[in-house]
Amino acid sequence: MRKPLIAGNWKMNGSKELVESFGRAFTDIDLPSPLEVVIHPPFPYLDAAREAFANSAIELGAQTLNPLHSGARTGEVSGQMLKEFGVAYVLVGHSERRQLYREDDEQVYDRVIAALSVGIKPILCIGETLEERDAGRTEEVVLRQVGYVMARLEPEQRREMTLAYEPVWAIGTGRTATPEQAQQVMAAIRGYQAGFDRELAAGLRLLYGGSMNAANARELLAQQDIDGGLIGGASLKVDDFTAICQSA
Ligand code: PGA
Repeated sequence: MRKPLIAGNWKMNGSKELVESFGRAFTDIDLPSPLEVVIHPPFPYLDAAREAFANSAIELGAQTLNPLHSGARTGEVSGQMLKEFGVAYVLVGHSERRQLYREDDEQVYDRVIAALSVGIKPILCIGETLEERDAGRTEEVVLRQVGYVMARLEPEQRREMTLAYEPVWAIGTGRTATPEQAQQVMAAIRGYQAGFDRELAAGLRLLYGGSMNAANARELLAQQDIDGGLIGGASLKVDDFTAICQSA
């Protein structure tokens, strides 16, 4: 009942050539059904990506957005602008944004609202640091991040949400959470949501992210509460990303 979603987060990587090669590779491709595939390229490539992905299986995603629709915010991009380029999904609260750009839960919430207000579906990223895990605080941290946003949304807004659990210590480190570790946190997130709304919890898509690759994707995706993946490094190679999609 939950449609799997595989999302590629290119971060500050990629090129026009990479956009075009993904467009070619994902046109006339045999993918498991049902499956949604999203690529989040850097902003300057959105227009080229819209064109290259138009007849492909890939939907367009963005990596962040400003909470405002327009105004004096040098260097920022609004949800309204993303909408004009056909963006369907946007990452919010990625740990790199939380850590490097000091985005706190309140700012994450504002960005979620900004995305929803223009009809772009947020992928809310959450996850604990290594220190927090070692201190036994994983679930407390993750459920705080989830609850801060989800508890403030209207029921129909919650249904537009996808959550991506990305342990910070697993991002870009080659150190993946074990399927059991990931499943445990996913089950806690779903259980937490079920405490408010069982139907929503049952339909809520939960992605795993953090060094997911072609070799470990199948085992992670086989877990009961993992409905897809948010892939960084391995989404920069057509073959690896295709293999991950095939194993969904
Ligand atoms: P990674 O990145 O797959 O390179 O660990 C995941 C992410 O940050 O979304």
